[in-house]
Amino acid sequence: MITTPFATSICKNFNTKVCHKCFKETVKKQPFQCNSCKEVYFCSTQCQDDANCHPDVECKSLGGIKLHSNKTKLSSDEMSDVRTIVAILSRRDINSDYSKVEKLVCNRPIDKSSERYLTAMAQFIIKITNCDLVVDQIIDLVCSVRCNAFGLWNKKQQCVATALCPEASFFNHSCAPNCSRDSAMSGNKIVVRTIRPVKCGSELCISYVDPQIEFEARRDLLKSAYYFSCRCQRCANPSDKLNEAIKSFFCPRASCNGLLVPEDVNSVSRRCKLCERRCVKDDWLVKADELDIHLK
Ligand SMILES: [Zn+2]
Ligand SMILES: [Zn+2]
Ligand SMILES: [Zn+2]
Ligand SMILES: [Zn+2]
Repeated sequence: MITTPFATSICKNFNTKVCHKCFKETVKKQPFQCNSCKEVYFCSTQCQDDANCHPDVECKSLGGIKLHSNKTKLSSDEMSDVRTIVAILSRRDINSDYSKVEKLVCNRPIDKSSERYLTAMAQFIIKITNCDLVVDQIIDLVCSVRCNAFGLWNKKQQCVATALCPEASFFNHSCAPNCSRDSAMSGNKIVVRTIRPVKCGSELCISYVDPQIEFEARRDLLKSAYYFSCRCQRCANPSDKLNEAIKSFFCPRASCNGLLVPEDVNSVSRRCKLCERRCVKDDWLVKADELDIHLK
């Protein structure tokens, strides 16, 4: 499945180096800049001229962030959430997929201190975007973004942008996934692909965390970031054999965590999506079968 995110916001460190429209990355500053907010960069006039890629509301709001950022007590992480929310709200009236954004799961913390900073954040967002939503609705949106948005990574494994892509968020979690979202970007597209043969009628699932990490760490991460206790068959019966089968889907290079993807439909040789190393190990289909048998 190939899809385009509803909204993206480029991380602060990459803001001048990544084209806002096509995500082309350069070592130096991108050559074109929005003349109004001076906060958004483009690789070409062609990218800059696409009005929908930098709507007026976004332009005005980013100017507002610059103007008011030193008057708020929001942390840099919170400010990056603010930028993502601005990107989403700016597209609310021009992209009909906003109804899908509203359907995303939102796990809202109920403690007083979370409520306090979320309220401050929502008030700041309403001020800079001038939008007609109330504080409560903005808080829901912030919490939904925290549950559903994901990072887009470059080939050097640096997080370049945050994306909200409802189509890619509707996949359920499995610790023994049959699909995976490419973490490396393909321009401004998000790609979700199968990582092993899938039997007709099986649910397509991705793993919300790195499925190679050990059971306890996986369980804690899912609980703290996604607020659920995983009860999948792999968590119920942790086994070294399953761990090994899962590992066979990923790049064997120690520093790399890339997904191995078959070079063509009938080939057993695969290539890492991140470092492009070729892997000719031919027992991965056997391991995929073992996984299916174990998880029955
Ligand atoms: Zn571009
Ligand atoms: Zn602008
Ligand atoms: Zn699990
Ligand atoms: Zn690799």
